[in-house]
Amino acid sequence: MITLTMNQLLMEPEALARVLAAVPATLGTEDCELWTASDRVIASDVYATVPLPRFDNSSMDGYAVRAAEAVEGARLVVRKVQAAGPAAGHELTPGEAIRIFTGAPIPAGADAVVMQEECARSGNAIVVRARVLPGENVRRAGDDLSAGQKICAAGTTLQSPQLALLAAQGVPRVQVHRRPEVAIVATGNELRPPGDVLGPGEIFESNRVMLADLVRRAGAVPRPLPVVPDLPETHDEAFLQAQSKDVIVVAGGVSVGEKDLVKASLRRLGGNVDLWRVAVRPGKPFMFGKLGPVPVFGLPGNPVSAFVTFLLFVRPALLKMGGRTRYQEPGIQAEAGEELRNPGDRPHYLRVCWRDGVIRLTGRQESHAIFGLAQANALARLEPGQVVRAGDRVPVIRFGD
Ligand code: AMP
Ligand code: MG
Repeated sequence: MITLTMNQLLMEPEALARVLAAVPATLGTEDCELWTASDRVIASDVYATVPLPRFDNSSMDGYAVRAAEAVEGARLVVRKVQAAGPAAGHELTPGEAIRIFTGAPIPAGADAVVMQEECARSGNAIVVRARVLPGENVRRAGDDLSAGQKICAAGTTLQSPQLALLAAQGVPRVQVHRRPEVAIVATGNELRPPGDVLGPGEIFESNRVMLADLVRRAGAVPRPLPVVPDLPETHDEAFLQAQSKDVIVVAGGVSVGEKDLVKASLRRLGGNVDLWRVAVRPGKPFMFGKLGPVPVFGLPGNPVSAFVTFLLFVRPALLKMGGRTRYQEPGIQAEAGEELRNPGDRPHYLRVCWRDGVIRLTGRQESHAIFGLAQANALARLEPGQVVRAGDRVPVIRFGD
């Protein structure tokens, strides 16, 4: 535990490094059918067992020929057909062309395919209009990949192209990293679930559904718990329940007020607080600790603060625990479409709309201003005191479309 006085804040890179060092690189693996493996992270390297294409085949509908014979004006007799599917065992004899379709195996003796558009059919013969070269319109066995070649590296997120490649190799199921299950806890006496009737001073609870979506987008499984009132015993109860999951994300109650009970509850239950308070805006009260082996992320309750600190600290940790090999956001830059300022003494993540590489501020920038967040699709990072002029480049984290 780093003990920080009220005025000391941890710098963001150090906080992230400490979080990442404290979470495991995988939670183990499980077997998964290809059909349900979208966005799952493959746990081991996969090597090709068959070359692709597996056999020489036609890339066109047309006629399999011997290129030397298929000169312009040549007349070739057509008596046999080779469709996609089982090889008919035909052999091309001199003066002959074999009707062939896309994907069909090239018959013995043929070395090229004349596209059907390049010849005239008359009865049981064709007249070639344009000559072909040896190998033309033939997909050679192994020209895409050879048996033994690595086709998928451990840590890859499986999406449509990788799934197609694995299926093309005859792979029906894969070992994938287990997805972290994330308990999502919201604390606050003022919070009512949407659908309830609000009393005086009450507001609708919005962090859990936001965090559940962020958790899903980080390849993990959200497990929301009921809202927790601001009492020590309800906090203890909630954490004891949440402890059965792989990760706990709690929003609210990590600040300095008397009703901020999260840290005390963790300690009471034998957990520890590893770090608290980071030099970012919004998100200063961010906390990270453990309850037994379970990482606990304490996010400030203000929705924008919870969102930003999730992206900065929770998302990389979930990606790492889910077996991703690249879990830190690649730094990207955007052009400021207007002047941006950070008069404060902490790095400020401004809500911006990114369009074609240019960013503009979206609405109010306070940490409760959820409407401005909902208009945004990126965060722009400004250093303390920084003034960015229109046209200057600035680092951004993109999210959403
Ligand atoms: P806290 O971090 O608990 O001090 O909360 C800071 C601010 O965020 C207060 O205005 C809370 O009402 C608000 N807040 C806390 N949790 C939530 C939540 N789950 N949904 C919406 N607002 C919240
Ligand atoms: Mg609160």
